[in-house]
Amino acid sequence: MAIIPDAVPEESLDHGEIIRRGGANCGDEDFALCKCPHCGRVYLVEYEVDTLYLDPANLDRRVGINIGVSGYRCEACGGMFPERTAWIGQKAPESMQVTWQDLAASPWRWVAARTREGGATDL
Ligand SMILES: [Zn+2]
Repeated sequence: MAIIPDAVPEESLDHGEIIRRGGANCGDEDFALCKCPHCGRVYLVEYEVDTLYLDPANLDRRVGINIGVSGYRCEACGGMFPERTAWIGQKAPESMQVTWQDLAASPWRWVAARTREGGATDL
């Protein structure tokens, strides 16, 4: 599996904005995006402490996960995220990589300056 050309790079995520909105986890946060391979719902991941943020309007809604080991049942469609599989980065299945278009269409669009300022209306 390779990174898809239009995938949102981790370094595009606005760390300061995530923290400002209450996204601090345990320090040394490393944020990334993933999406449900079944319905395409976007989730924010903090992979220093393996946390999944469920709600872009309320960053307190989060669950502990074990990336690369455990699965997760998507709260939108009930489909399972794959077990023993990377959910983020280049090793993730293409169906779980978030593209700029996915992000612009998602309520998570505020996490990157590019999609926050342009908004979904540009697409
Ligand atoms: Zn889903």
